[in-house]
Amino acid sequence: MKFYNRFIRTFQDLPDHTTLLIHSLSGCLLHCYGCHNYDEIIANKPKNYKTKEDLYAYLEKSGFLFDAVMFSGGEFLIDKIEDIIDLLHQVRTIFNGKIIVTTCGVYNTKLKRLIAEGLVDGIHIDMKLPYHVLDPKEDQNIFHDVMGIKPNQQLIENLLDSIDVVIQHNSPLDQVRTVKYPILAEIFFDEIRDYVERRKSYFQSDVPYYLNQFQYV
Ligand code: SF4
Repeated sequence: MKFYNRFIRTFQDLPDHTTLLIHSLSGCLLHCYGCHNYDEIIANKPKNYKTKEDLYAYLEKSGFLFDAVMFSGGEFLIDKIEDIIDLLHQVRTIFNGKIIVTTCGVYNTKLKRLIAEGLVDGIHIDMKLPYHVLDPKEDQNIFHDVMGIKPNQQLIENLLDSIDVVIQHNSPLDQVRTVKYPILAEIFFDEIRDYVERRKSYFQSDVPYYLNQFQYV
C-alpha cells in the first residue's frame, strides 16, 4: 500500500480531536463531481509516496501528538481486505489513539469485517445521493453526474447496507455526511436527511449526520 507523501495534521475532520490524516494512493471506483483529490491523488499518482513502514515509523516517533489517525483516499477500502487488516493491526499495536476510516460505502463487506475485528473506532461515510429512491436505469444520469459511475442494483444495495452498518455501529466518532452538490436540487438533501434519520430511529442510533457545503477550489 502507498500513501500520499504528506501525512496531514487536521483539527476539523474529527471534532475535538487532533487527527493525522492519511491519504491512500490506491485509487477510487468513483469520479465524483468536484472531487478535490482526483487530479493529485487518483488520476495522477505522485512519484513520491510513503509506505506502510514510513507510517509505522512516523507513528512510533510522533503518534503521541495525535488523538486519532484517519485513513482516507481515494477510497481507502479499495485494497485487499487482508492488506487493510494487516495495516490496521500494526497501527493498533503502535498507536494508542482512535482509528477512523472514511469511505464512499461501496465496500460494505470489508467495512463489516473491520468492525468485527475491532480495527476501527469511527467510520465517516458519504451518502452522496438518496440511493433509496433512485433507480439504477432511470436515474443513470444522476449517478453519472454526481458520482461518475454507471450504477446497478447491487451497487445501490451495497451503498445502503454500508449506511446501515455505520448507523448500527453507533459510535460518537462515526459520521454520515453529504456534500451539498450545487448541481442537485434541495429535495435530494431533504430525502437523504429523512432517510438517515429514519434509519437512526430504527436502529436507535445517535450517529451524527452532517450536510457539508460544497467547497469550490
Ligand atoms: S469517493 Fe471521494 S475520493 Fe472518490 S471520487 Fe468521490 S469524492 Fe473523490
